[in-house]
This record gives sequence, C-alpha cells and structure tokens, in this order.
Amino acid sequence: PAEERIAKVIARAGVASRRDAEAMIAEGRVTLNGETLTSPAVNVGPGDRIAVDGEPLPSRERTRLWLFHKPRGLVTTARDPQGRPTVFDSLPEDMPRVVAIGRLDINTEGLLLLTNDGGLAKVIAHPDTGWTRRYRARAHGEVTQADLDRLKNGITLEGMEYGPIEATLDRVQGDNVWITLALKEGKNREVKRVLEHLGLQVNRLIRLSFGPFQLGDLEPGLVEEVRTRVLKDQL
Ligand code: URA
Repeated sequence: PAEERIAKVIARAGVASRRDAEAMIAEGRVTLNGETLTSPAVNVGPGDRIAVDGEPLPSRERTRLWLFHKPRGLVTTARDPQGRPTVFDSLPEDMPRVVAIGRLDINTEGLLLLTNDGGLAKVIAHPDTGWTRRYRARAHGEVTQADLDRLKNGITLEGMEYGPIEATLDRVQGDNVWITLALKEGKNREVKRVLEHLGLQVNRLIRLSFGPFQLGDLEPGLVEEVRTRVLKDQL
C-alpha cells in the first residue's frame, strides 16, 4: 500500500491500538517527519518518519546486513566536513539506506559491516557484545614476538585503557613487519596506537573479520548481503 492512515501504521507497528493511536495524535504525542500532528486525518507512505513520544516507530523493514570491502581513501561517516568521499557515496544505487557497524579509518581497508537496522548496529558495536576483530597490519620498524606478547594483558596509553590483544609476528619484509592482531573492541585508532607504542608505524591495515563474518575473497569496493539468521546464535 502506497499511502495509509497514520493511526493504522502505528497500530501495525505494535505501539498502540488504532483507537489509542488516534488519541495519542490528539494529545500531540506523535510527530510526522519531525512535525507534531494535531489530527489523525493524515496518510503516510514508506518514506515517512513517524515518532511516538519522540521514539521512532519500529521499522517495518526486516533487518538486513551486508559485508563491504572498504578500499583505502573512504571515510566511514555519513557526511565529511572536509568533503572527502564516504563509504556511503560508494555503495550501489539500489542499496537501501544503511549505517556502518563501527568505523574504519580513512586509510584502513577490509571488512566493514553495514545494516539498515540502527539498533542492531549499536548492539554489535557495543563493547559488551565482545565480537573479535581480526586485522593484518604492515608496519615500519622492528619488533619481536616477545614485544607483541606485552599486549596480551591489555595496556594503558595516555590514560586510555586497551583490552587484551593477541598479536602474532607473521613475517619481516624489508624494513616492514606483518602482524596479525585479534582484539575485542574498536577504540579510535587502536591498532595504530598500540603498535606505535612498540615503535612501529602502521602503513597498511586490513580488517579480516568481525565476529562471525569474514572478508574472504570479496573484492575491494564490493558489497555482499549476508543471512541475518547467523546473528541469532551470536548475539
Ligand atoms: N585500528 C586502527 O588503528 N584503525 C582502524 O581503522 C581500525 C582499528
């Protein structure tokens, strides 16, 4: 249905009966696209934003989730004050509106999860969810496995506490080392900061996995929708 009475839509979302929804409108508790309604004689369509007591109506869309292979050079914000290209600008035209689950720095590559469900994004990104993020880092400098083992018990840098990080020295390549890291949080510039503390300058950073989801062989710049059924066991 393209357009329906607003009270019917509120009732279907499970917030109130149709009659109660009409009463709420009369009491000035309902907004349509940010404007407080005074009469229930209004039709709404899929693009309209309805809120009751300031709370957006639960979405009628089913929750969907995508993997995105973020290339370097894109910011993970909806709008960049400096006008740099964003992840969202780069997505296919036919994608619904999505939010990112956590962020990757502009020069970080690899797995970024996208969803049309803002509530889900918050739950997954929350520290309590405890999903492991795995990264491969290339860093300039020298380090031993024993140095990296110092990250196992967590570390505090300039008053910021970082949780335990499992880091493995994979190989030395000229003046660089390749390191695989696993951590359970996503604090601002976390990988770069902790490695910098060990005397390393990260010059390439790729996220390989986030919780149960793997980057796999998804090509840079491409999205792939995943079954959200997987999520039920994980959250
Ligand atoms: N750690 C960082 O330093 N940057 C990222 O983008 C992700 C993790």
